[in-house]
Amino acid sequence: AWRPEDDETSRRGATGPVKVHVPAKINLHLGVGPLRADGYHELNTVYHAISIQDELTARRGDTLTLTMEGEGTGVLALDETNLVIRAARALAAYAGVPAHARLHLRKQIPLAGGLAGGSADAAAALVACDALWGTGLTRDELATVAAGLGSDVPFLVFGGTALGTGRGEAVSPVLVRPTTWHWTVAIADAGLATPSVYAELDRLRDAGAAPTPMGSPDRLLGALRQRDPAVLGAALGNDLEPAAVSLRPELARVLAAGRSAGALASIVSGSGPTCVFLASDAGHADRMARDLTAADVCRLVRTAHGPVAGARVG
Ligand code: ATP
Repeated sequence: AWRPEDDETSRRGATGPVKVHVPAKINLHLGVGPLRADGYHELNTVYHAISIQDELTARRGDTLTLTMEGEGTGVLALDETNLVIRAARALAAYAGVPAHARLHLRKQIPLAGGLAGGSADAAAALVACDALWGTGLTRDELATVAAGLGSDVPFLVFGGTALGTGRGEAVSPVLVRPTTWHWTVAIADAGLATPSVYAELDRLRDAGAAPTPMGSPDRLLGALRQRDPAVLGAALGNDLEPAAVSLRPELARVLAAGRSAGALASIVSGSGPTCVFLASDAGHADRMARDLTAADVCRLVRTAHGPVAGARVG
């Protein structure tokens, strides 16, 4: 077997464990354009990284292995289909090093929740293995490898608040004075498969039963600059929401419960079924979390803030 001392690259890497934290994402604006020839929809989105996190620890090993605890344990396959393994292999191939690591995932981001948990784990694996192997890629190089793994993965390498175009993989930061936004997050019992939500939106659009696509995020970007949660709340929007609600009608009750709890805005996160509620401050987010828990409309209620950094060591 290959040993760390066998080549120069590995001697630059870490000898001890490397721990990486990675956030979940929500979309403050998710504008879904037409279906492209390659099967993806053209997106205009504003990504926002929030403080619900997964943790990935990487240690030296003779092969590539993955273990996990937390959300999805026993359900999520830990084989070559897992995005953590795919990301480690993609980085090894890009950098020309052996894909040898023992990886352990502590998962808090729910599966198929519309919070991009799988993409987050892929981003975490890139950052963790880059440090473990001493491959020393820049964030932009990591984002290039990330784009081959999934549309949301580049954003989770950067974090913060960022504009996403193309199929979401072309990311540029939104430059605004930093403001912390507070959220209450309602996590559902079971996930929704992202492709089925896009297919449902296509069906609704073909039937003339979907709202006009939102298009550009200019209004949302203007609202971010005003730093007023009520203004931001009025500008949040998600073209996928009617499709998610159509597939999962009880989401209408979750969104209504958020409004009753005093949310400045209630939206489905990405392809759902997670719903997010904008609060005016941290105390308001806590009070909404209490009310939503009492309303008993979902599996788990959490509070979060954003923006937070992308995948990072430590
Ligand atoms: P998005 O918001 O990007 O649509 P999501 O939050 O709805 O994502 P994920 O949990 O990211 O959904 O992943 C969806 C599917 O990807 C899972 O059901 C699973 O089959 C696959 N997958 C592969 N690796 C992972 C991983 N490490 N964590 C979660 N899902 C993974």
